[in-house]
Amino acid sequence: MDFGYTREEEEFRKRLCKFLDRELTEEIARQNWEDKGVGPEAREFSRKLAAHGFLGMSWPKEYGGQGLSPTYDFILLDELGKRWGAHVPLDVAYTMVAHTILRRGSEEMKKEFLLRIIRGEIEFCLGYTEPNAGSDLASMRMRAVEEGDYFTITGQKTFNTEAHYAEYHWLAARTDFSPNIPKHRGISLFIVDIGSPGITVRPLITMSGEQTNEVFYENVRVPRNRLAGEKNKGFYYMMEAIDSERNHVFTPCRLLPILEELIQYVKETKFMGKPLAEDPLIQEKLAQMAIELEVAQVLADHSRWMESNEIPMTYEPEITKVFVSELEQRLVDVGMQILGHYGQLEEGSKWVPLRGRIEWYFLHSFMTTIGAGTSEIGRNVIAQRGLGLPRS
Ligand SMILES: Cc1cc2nc3c(=O)[nH]c(=O)nc-3n(C[C@H](O)[C@H](O)[C@H](O)COP(=O)(O)OP(=O)(O)OC[C@H]3O[C@@H](n4cnc5c(N)ncnc54)[C@H](O)[C@@H]3O)c2cc1C
Repeated sequence: MDFGYTREEEEFRKRLCKFLDRELTEEIARQNWEDKGVGPEAREFSRKLAAHGFLGMSWPKEYGGQGLSPTYDFILLDELGKRWGAHVPLDVAYTMVAHTILRRGSEEMKKEFLLRIIRGEIEFCLGYTEPNAGSDLASMRMRAVEEGDYFTITGQKTFNTEAHYAEYHWLAARTDFSPNIPKHRGISLFIVDIGSPGITVRPLITMSGEQTNEVFYENVRVPRNRLAGEKNKGFYYMMEAIDSERNHVFTPCRLLPILEELIQYVKETKFMGKPLAEDPLIQEKLAQMAIELEVAQVLADHSRWMESNEIPMTYEPEITKVFVSELEQRLVDVGMQILGHYGQLEEGSKWVPLRGRIEWYFLHSFMTTIGAGTSEIGRNVIAQRGLGLPRS
């Protein structure tokens, strides 16, 4: 097992870092991380990333990529994460949807969407969860009825995060209604223009001020050529994509700036005349976080190495997802303890430390063990697929 990088990959990183140091401001990163809608600067930044050849390095050449190893994508995501930019460039389309289009989409679909994703021009939102189908996703009820050249779709999704600014909905809906088939067999995936007549998007604002949404479909007509892959195979495609999604989304590097800013803070801040950095308890807590970040990186490197070498993954990316999302909570909890009562002040408040980043991350961190599958479900996967324990 070799987690090292080739000379070409290191050169790519060097060129990328030079670009990011110049172009990726904290303001651009924030336009994505708070999900208030991607601002024009963030879109422009994504386009520049593409224009400089940093997007789609691992995608096939015929769809605008460069046909190289996924390691290049991981380097990109790591370097963005280190600069608070984990969700830049355009997020769901690039790290999640495109992989399934590449694997399962028709030639027409690949031509229509991949190049625009690679150019940073379009964003998708993920339409899986329903009010009664979250962890038990296969219980979804949204109906897509085939009528000649169209599917007519009716029903409700909830917690669809980018729906207020994405151009397209990556939508899962039921297409087989027979009572006798297992429920996961009758689901299909679609690409829907989010502005289609009959779609209503309503905001749900989380405690960290992020916007996610309810999305209602009332007799929405979706052309047949927007069915991704085969009808009734959608659930399998979602499961097929999940490991790679975890490798791309749960990158430990996005936690590094939190630790680095805390280290800087304790060096610069005095309590009773002495720098906080001299306090052995604080040193111990920060050292513990450094240890866990190293562990997270090794876990991520392992499952990414499997993906890059086309070794079938079963539960390894799930271990990374559970560990990284829970580590985020432990890290910001340490941050809150170090900042004391000032840590609770919001950004904009006169005495707020570290621009309110720790307070915001603390509130945000509750979603990391829920979104994209909860920690409980993750542990079920590890127990059953990894340890061979029976399903309950
Ligand atoms: C901020 C935010 C953004 C999100 N963004 C999106 C998005 O963009 N697109 C999208 O489709 N979804 C999104 N989600 C939805 C997310 O994927 C679901 O919330 C998640 O899968 C859990 O589903 P649920 O909320 O219905 O909880 P439930 O499934 O009702 O679970 C409730 C509790 O029971 C536990 N539980 C359930 N089943 C089991 C079991 N078998 N074993 C052990 N414990 C169990 C769960 O772990 C959880 O603690 C988002 C959620 C949040 C909070």
